Amino acid sequence: MGRPGRPEYIPAQFGRAAARPCGPQFEPHRLAQPPRDGSAVRRPQRRTARIFHRMVGETVTRGRRHRGNAAMTDFDVIVIGGGIIGCLVAREVIARGMDVSVALLDRDLVGSGASRRSAGLHFPRGASARVRAMTAVSQDYYQRLRRDHPDLPIHPLEMSVLARESEGVDRYYLDRANATRVAGLPGDSVPVPPGMGVWNVDGGHYADVAALVVALTAELRQRVHIRESTAVTAVEPGRDEVVVRLGTGETLCAATVFLAPGPWVHAPAWRAVTAPLAVRVKLVAAMHIDQAPTASDRVIVFQDPDAFLLPMAHRGHWLFSFTSQQWDVEPDALTGGASAACLAEGRDVLAAVAPRLAARATAGRVFCDAYSPNREPLIRALDPDRRVIFAGAANGSGYRLAPAIAAEAVDLLSIGPARRPLHVDHPIRSR
Ligand SMILES: Cc1cc2nc3c(=O)[nH]c(=O)nc-3n(C[C@H](O)[C@H](O)[C@H](O)COP(=O)(O)OP(=O)(O)OC[C@H]3O[C@@H](n4cnc5c(N)ncnc54)[C@H](O)[C@@H]3O)c2cc1C
Repeated sequence: MGRPGRPEYIPAQFGRAAARPCGPQFEPHRLAQPPRDGSAVRRPQRRTARIFHRMVGETVTRGRRHRGNAAMTDFDVIVIGGGIIGCLVAREVIARGMDVSVALLDRDLVGSGASRRSAGLHFPRGASARVRAMTAVSQDYYQRLRRDHPDLPIHPLEMSVLARESEGVDRYYLDRANATRVAGLPGDSVPVPPGMGVWNVDGGHYADVAALVVALTAELRQRVHIRESTAVTAVEPGRDEVVVRLGTGETLCAATVFLAPGPWVHAPAWRAVTAPLAVRVKLVAAMHIDQAPTASDRVIVFQDPDAFLLPMAHRGHWLFSFTSQQWDVEPDALTGGASAACLAEGRDVLAAVAPRLAARATAGRVFCDAYSPNREPLIRALDPDRRVIFAGAANGSGYRLAPAIAAEAVDLLSIGPARRPLHVDHPIRSR
C-alpha cells in the first residue's frame, strides 16, 4: 500500500517562521531503522541528543529558546486532533514499529469533536472505487480490532439496504458484502414502496466512536505523549521542522505534523495551509427515535434519500441519520442544540420513509463534518517539504474510513522503501 515517492502537496502561504528552521536538520533515516525492544518513549536518548525526553508525562525541553519565548519540546511526530482519525494515525505510527517519539494534541478531551456525535455506522459501500478500497481496508481493521479486543464498543449488525429495483446495490457495495435480494424488511415500521427492493448485506457494524477513541488512547498512552485541553494556536512548517505553538504558551517542534482537525479545518492556527484544499463544512444531523431496539433489529440503509435507521442498543433508542444541506457552518457555533428548522427537516425525511416512527422522533444530535470537493477523503502533504500532512475531510464517513485514512497518511512519512505497513491487508492504489 501507499506510494513511497513524493506525494502531492498544495503550496500555501506560510507564516514567518516557515523560512526559519528552528533546530538541527531532521534525520529521516531514523524512521527507517528497525524498531528496538521496548517503548519508543523509554529508549535511551539519541546519540545526537536531538530529543532529550523519553518518559511519558515528563516535561521535555531542549536547552534553547525560540524567539525569546518558552523553551521548545521536540517530537518526531505530532498529531493534532484527537478524534478517531488522529487517534488512529498515532496508533498506526506506533503499530508500524517506528522508533519515533509521538505526541497527540487536542484542545478538548480526546474523542470530543465530530467523533463524539458520530452515529458510528460502518457499511460496506463506497461511491467511488477508491472509497470502496478504503472501506475494505477499514472493515478489515475494525474486524481485527474487535477480534483482538472483544470489549471494545464495536457492535456487528445485520444490515438491509432499500434501493430502487432498477439500480440495485451492486454498483456501490463491496463484493464481500454478498448483497442478497430478499422479500422485504422485517416488521412494519418501514414500508417498501413500489419499484423498491431490499437487499441484505454482510459486514455492517456500529461503534460508540467516542468510547472507542478513549479506549484506544488509553492503550496508546504507554507509547504516545497525549496532551488534552491543549489548543494549537499556530502551525508553522519550515524546511527542517515544524513549529507548533500552543495556547498554553509552549512551543513544540516536530519533524512531521499530522493535522487531523475534523470540521475545524479552517481554524486560524492552520487555515493558511488548509485553504487550498477547498474543504467545506456541512451540518450533519440525526434524529433520535424513542423506541427501544431489540436484539434482532437490523440497520436499514436507504439509498435515496441518503439516510439510515440504526438500532443503537447501547443507548436504548433508534437513530435516523439524514442528509442535511446546510453548508459552511462553524463547529464552535453548533453547541446550542438543534434548531426548529433542522428538526423539521429530519422529521420530514423520516416521515417519507418510515411514517410510523416520525412521531417518536423528538430530538437528536447536530454537528458537522468536513467535505472535500470530490467527496473522497483528503490525505496529503500541505507544504513542499511534506512535513505537515493533512488527514480528513471524510464527508460524513470519518469513522468508517478512519483506519484507511490513517494508513495512507502514515505512508506519507519517509519510512524507506523496504518497510511495509503492518496493519493493512488491502492495498489502495486507485489514486
Ligand atoms: C451527527 C453525526 C453522525 C455521523 N455518523 C457517522 C457514521 O454513522 N459513520 C461514519 O463513518 N461517520 C459518521 N459521522 C462522521 C464522523 O463522525 C466524522 O467524519 C469523524 O468523527 C471525523 O473524525 P476526525 O478525527 O477527523 O474529527 P474530530 O472527531 O472532530 O476530531 C478533531 C479533533 O480536533 C480537535 N481540535 C480542533 N481544533 C483544535 C486545536 N486548535 N488544537 C488542538 N486540537 C484541536 C478537536 O477538539 C477534535 O477532538 C458522523 C458525524 C456526525 C456529526
